[in-house]
Order: sequence, then structure tokens, then C-alpha cells
Amino acid sequence: MALLSTVACSAVFAANPSYQEQEKLHEIAAAVSPERIEQDITKLVSFGTRHTLSETASDTRGIGAARRWIKAEFDRISEACGGCLEVYYQSEVISGETRIPKPTEVVSVIAVQRGTVDPSRYVIMSGDIDSRVSDVMDATSDAPGANDNASGVAGTLEAARVLSQYEFAGSIVYAALAGEEQGLFGGKIMAEQAQKDGWRIKAVLNNDMIGNIEGINGVVNNTTARIFAEGTRMNETESDARRRRFTGGEVDSPSRNVARYIDWMADRYIPNLDTMVIYRLDRFGRGGHHRPFNDLGYPGVRIMETNENYHRQHQDLRVENGIQYGDTLDGVDFDYAAKLTALNAVSLASMAWAPSPPADVQIKGAVSPNTTLSWQAPSNAEADLVAGYRIYWRHTDAPNWEFSRDVGKVTEYTLENIVIDNYFFGVASVSQDGFESPVVFPGPAGAFGE
Ligand SMILES: [Zn+2]
Repeated sequence: MALLSTVACSAVFAANPSYQEQEKLHEIAAAVSPERIEQDITKLVSFGTRHTLSETASDTRGIGAARRWIKAEFDRISEACGGCLEVYYQSEVISGETRIPKPTEVVSVIAVQRGTVDPSRYVIMSGDIDSRVSDVMDATSDAPGANDNASGVAGTLEAARVLSQYEFAGSIVYAALAGEEQGLFGGKIMAEQAQKDGWRIKAVLNNDMIGNIEGINGVVNNTTARIFAEGTRMNETESDARRRRFTGGEVDSPSRNVARYIDWMADRYIPNLDTMVIYRLDRFGRGGHHRPFNDLGYPGVRIMETNENYHRQHQDLRVENGIQYGDTLDGVDFDYAAKLTALNAVSLASMAWAPSPPADVQIKGAVSPNTTLSWQAPSNAEADLVAGYRIYWRHTDAPNWEFSRDVGKVTEYTLENIVIDNYFFGVASVSQDGFESPVVFPGPAGAFGE
């Protein structure tokens, strides 16, 4: 009798690692160049300050020169791929704000690599153009912002160089966002415009400080990184929250499942990099440019170094009590920034080659030994891209998906003898050539939208 139950158990719990290794993603990871990232960070630092309120007329100093250079660089990348990028400025005049009191043009630079199958579906990589010193209103002092956040912009440019050599099913957007230090304005402008234009955003990978490996506490570590991801979504309705109380989803927002996806990409494609998924919107009480997207319900995460050095953030350049303050070039490790850029690139590529995450995922199975998941098949050009679906589940206290099963090209599947109460479940779409979407947790708490 005991033997029989053992057999049943092993069938239920057998992990099914049917993911296919993708040679192209190894190729992309290897193509990211630390030398080009170093050149770009050096160039951005050379503008002296990139403060949002700094001068815009000069061609060598200030935010105006910096954004014109970034635009020209995206244009050059586009030229090299036969015009594969749509490059444009996105701007709005902001005034009457604590950190932008007088009318100031906040100008981001955006490059879109249009998808060939489902162009209205987007994954976005971002970094911030602007920099600051101790006084957030000081627009004239040297504010090199080498790590915060020339590293994020340089990584975004480099990802565009590498990924523009390929064509993808969905669209990829490379964004150098403005006005971050003054109150997340560039991200807010972009997220609101995207919503107006009906962009189906499936992931925002915001890179803010991806080059420092020497922590304020003396730790030196170039083998780990952090992915911050919110729990419940900002625009959850009261009735959705009530439903979540009974069915779960507190730890399975789409942002979390994007974070788990990136974590997996690191394990598979980036040697010597282990990412820590952090169950938080951002660092304790602090902000970043993924938040304005999260505010509107879009999945988004912050990717950054593990060990921060506060002597090098938001500081006037100076030496005090033998300590050197300031965000200068010598505080950036370019190989490390390249490693995190490669992580972005493979994650963006994998999501853009994969079909859209399944829509309208539902689950049932209360008072039954079985669990049934259902979802919608895409009705647009993506229908042919989909080879099938992969159902995932894990113990409720496990951080990562533990078990999976390929269920073919169906829109409903019953897991026999797997009790709904004891696991969390989700489903991913898989393309004809084996690229997989992030996992979607059922119901509004986990939805990536249609
Ligand atoms: Zn900052």
C-alpha cells in the first residue's frame, strides 16, 4: 500500500525542465562590449553636468548637449541596421513643481525597434539622462553622474547596438529618460503617452546604477545584482483586492514574474551573475523610473548593483576627512556594467521573440483533487507564433517556479491530482522556436493585459 502512494507522488512532483537552450541568446550576451560602455559613460560624464535645469544651448556642457548626443548615437545605431529604429525626442514643459519651479522642457530620447509580428506589444529598457550633486537644485556644479545614471544610459545604448542586429516578433524600446532626480518626470511622461497610444507594455526593465561593485561597507562583489519588483499592483481595484484575499496573488504581480524571468535568464545565459529578486517596489523609501509605469498598472522592475556606495551618489565633488565624494568615472566597473547590460539584452530578446504572455488566465479546482487552468489564445498575427503553453506551479512559500508541464496548443488544461490549495500556478506561452513568455498568475493580480 505504501508503495502505491510513492509512485503516485513521484508522478505529481516530477519537475519537467523542458526549456530549450537558445544559442542566439548566448550570442547576444557575448556581443555586449565593456569598451563601448566605457566610451559612452566617459562621453556622458564629459558634459560636466546633466542636471535637468542645466543649460541647453552649449554643445559641450549641460543636459541639452547630452540629449543631442544620445539622439545622434541612436541615429547612428539605426543607420547601421538600415533604419531599424524610430528615434525621437519626447518632451513636455514642466513647471510649478518643488524641484522644477520654473517652466523647463523635460526631454527624453526614445528609440523603437518595431516588432515584425505583433508591433503593438512592447518591452522597454530604460536609463536616466540626468545627474545631480548634494543640492538637488544645483544645476551648475560638476555632476558627473558616472554610475547614477550614465551607466544605465550607456547600457541602454549598447543593448540597442546588439539587438538591432536581429528582428523580433514584438517591439523593443530603448529609452533615455529625463528628469528622474527632479521627480520621475521623464518616466511619467512616457508612461502616460504610452497609455494614450495604447501600447501593450509587457515589461519595463529600468536600469538605475548598474556599474558600482564596491559597497560603502567595503564589500567588493561583481557577481550579484538586484531586481526590485512590486507586490500587489498599484491600480488594483477594491473588488480585485477582495478576490486576491481568497485566491492569492500577493507575491505574483506581473512585475514579480518579470523579475523571476530575468533571474532565470541570469542563471541560464550570464556566467558568474546571480540575481537577487527583491520583493519591494524599490530600495526602502526610494524611487526610480519603473515606478511611473507601475503606477499605471504596467509590469516593470528596477535592475541595479547589489552594493551601493553612498559617498558616490548625489554628492558634491570633494575630499572630506580623507574620504573622496562624488560619482566619478573611477567608481564604475565597466565589465560589471556590461554583464548587467547583457542580462537586459537577453531578457528583452527572449521576451520579444516569445509570444505575448497568455491573456485572461483563469483557475478553478476548489473541493476537487484536480486543478484546471484556462486562458485565451491570441487572435492577432501571433496565433501562428505560438507553439503551445507551459503550465508552472510551485509551493506557496517557494520563491521560484518549481514544476512545469508542456500542455500543447490548447486553451484549457487540467492537472490531475494536483490540489489547488497547496500550490501557486501560472502559465506561459512558448513560440515555435522555443522562446517562452513570463509566467502569468491567474486573475487580475497577475494579469499582463491582453
Ligand atoms: Zn540618483
